[in-house]
Amino acid sequence: MDDIYREQILEHARYPHNFGTLEQPTVSHEEYNPLCGDRVRIDLLIEDGVIADVRFSGKGCAISQASASMLTDEIKGMDVETAKAFSKDDLLTLIGIPLSKNPTRLKCALLSLKALKAGLYGVASVDVDDE
Ligand code: ZN
Repeated sequence: MDDIYREQILEHARYPHNFGTLEQPTVSHEEYNPLCGDRVRIDLLIEDGVIADVRFSGKGCAISQASASMLTDEIKGMDVETAKAFSKDDLLTLIGIPLSKNPTRLKCALLSLKALKAGLYGVASVDVDDE
């Protein structure tokens, strides 16, 4: 892994952005990654079709938590339709590390996106790997 990217991941994992919960989230969804033991819950406050506020909570490896931190930064203020279209590739670009050759790490990175999308679509779970 590239040192610059690794630094960014560790920084986000150490000092996650938007960490916590919302008192009255419009949407709240938690995902669990049994391969690594990661948990990520995403709370969204949706107003007029826009993600007005977002928090995440959970625990797990640096990649799962850093990914949630970066994703929540990115989607704050985004309209719901754009957020629904946010893809696996968009997320990997955001994180900035090539994880496609490491399926286990990829699942860690995509956990927050799964939580976001399942929450937005109001379903139990979504498969973001095939997009
Ligand atoms: Zn993990």
